[in-house]
Amino acid sequence: MTDRYFAWPPIAADTVRLTGPEAHHLLHVMRARAGHEVTLFDGSGAEFDAVVAATRRSELTLEIRRRRVVDRELSRTITLGVALPKGDRQKWLVEKLTELGVAELVPLATQRGVAQPTDKSLERLRRSVVEASKQCGRNRLMQIAQPQAWNDWIASVSDAVDRYVAHPGGVPAAEFFHGNTSRTATIALAVGPEGGLTDEEIELAVAQGLQTIDLGQRILRVETAAITLAVLGGNLES
Ligand code: SAM
Repeated sequence: MTDRYFAWPPIAADTVRLTGPEAHHLLHVMRARAGHEVTLFDGSGAEFDAVVAATRRSELTLEIRRRRVVDRELSRTITLGVALPKGDRQKWLVEKLTELGVAELVPLATQRGVAQPTDKSLERLRRSVVEASKQCGRNRLMQIAQPQAWNDWIASVSDAVDRYVAHPGGVPAAEFFHGNTSRTATIALAVGPEGGLTDEEIELAVAQGLQTIDLGQRILRVETAAITLAVLGGNLES
């Protein structure tokens, strides 16, 4: 793994204090001492060459040597609403969506949804975003929004340039993903729960202008459908 660590709050000085899990990783897993060189990122889009200046039992001080903007984002902004699966499958999904460049994940509350994220579980998922970003080199964090009801999410994406909900029997996905949007254009995508979206939920989405799209003849698990949508939505990356 690259020697990358997440600094929070955003870096605004030549010296940075690292605490918490990032300090633990650097001090007790990597056994860093003064002089150890690392890369820091703070979610702002930049990364920083830094060197460990001093260590204590559970925190370090690092000196910033160089700041550079390194953009590894997609060529469009994807917000993805997902009726989350249970347990460890959430963490796995968050890791993959971070790697794939999704900008925002919105946990959706749907009629047949099984998982109801708590503040604590959302914090754990946000930590998974940091871990995945350390590994994959992303300098902006995928945002994990507060859970939204299906109706509210549909209303919240009304300005998105493209809005699709994965639903078996919809229009084949390949017909929809064209290269005519820019990074400033948001694409809103949704995946239903394991039990599927109800007719009522689909009718509401369609009435509000969302397009139902089909992802093939096999029924995919929530994670597979979400990853497929993220890849389709982001595949025109330059
Ligand atoms: N029996 C459910 C149904 O017919 O909707 C299956 C639900 S599937 C396990 C979970 C979610 O993944 C669905 O709500 C849908 O958003 C998405 N999905 C799975 N397979 C799909 C496919 N082949 N085409 C479109 N969406 C799919």
